[in-house]
Amino acid sequence: MLVDAHCHLGDVAFDPDRDAVLERARRAAVGHVVVIGTTPVDSARAAALARSRPGLSATAGLHPHEASAWSADTAARLKALLGQPEVVAVGETGLDYHYDHAPRDAQRRAFAAQLALAVELGKPVVVHAREADADVAAILAGTGAPVVLHSFSSGATLFEAGMRIGAYFSFSGMITFKNWVSTFPLAGVPSDRVLVETDAPYLAPVPHRGERNEPAFVQAVAEALGRALGASLADIAQRTTENARRVFGARLAATLLQGEDA
Ligand SMILES: [Zn+2]
Repeated sequence: MLVDAHCHLGDVAFDPDRDAVLERARRAAVGHVVVIGTTPVDSARAAALARSRPGLSATAGLHPHEASAWSADTAARLKALLGQPEVVAVGETGLDYHYDHAPRDAQRRAFAAQLALAVELGKPVVVHAREADADVAAILAGTGAPVVLHSFSSGATLFEAGMRIGAYFSFSGMITFKNWVSTFPLAGVPSDRVLVETDAPYLAPVPHRGERNEPAFVQAVAEALGRALGASLADIAQRTTENARRVFGARLAATLLQGEDA
């Protein structure tokens, strides 16, 4: 089975047919989906979805695009969500200097605060980095929280920083794109630190490019990773599932298949 380590299943793009999407995921051997929260409201929706099925977990965080909204109230709401058993990680947080939807100092403040929250609660943290590698690397240096570098496509600076802190590298459909060029030694990622994700509804992998992405398509990402590493799909599935269970915890042992039996 495969774990989709990063999916925005609460997105309105899935409102018309979320159950059908999950049924296709099950048929594609996707046993578990980590549903990502980007605001307190979106994180509460992710938690509610995760409560509805054993094969779903949630995260709670404030996306860098929303970082201007960081406040003591935001922190309290995320912390309350993170106290629920189906909420397995902080995030997604991080820095995005490509879009700069929030001022960079606000992004850094919200990121550092969420990292501190992850350490305090003993949870992993899901990190988004876009055109901000040096600052992400500096903020992550020395953190005690397990780190997942989501949709990893950064250069050597963040790759090396991630290696130093034992981060998990989560790969998305970007590695299936024909123009994708690895700017870091992909084969150098330790096999106990690789994850696969869709980032759905965004970033649909080849051969689904241009379509709405969905968890079933994580198989195309795993196949591309297997080709890059010279490993079979079965081997990639086993490694990435073990890794997801290690970093996100025991809830990841529950699967979408159990939902049908229940
Ligand atoms: Zn995301």
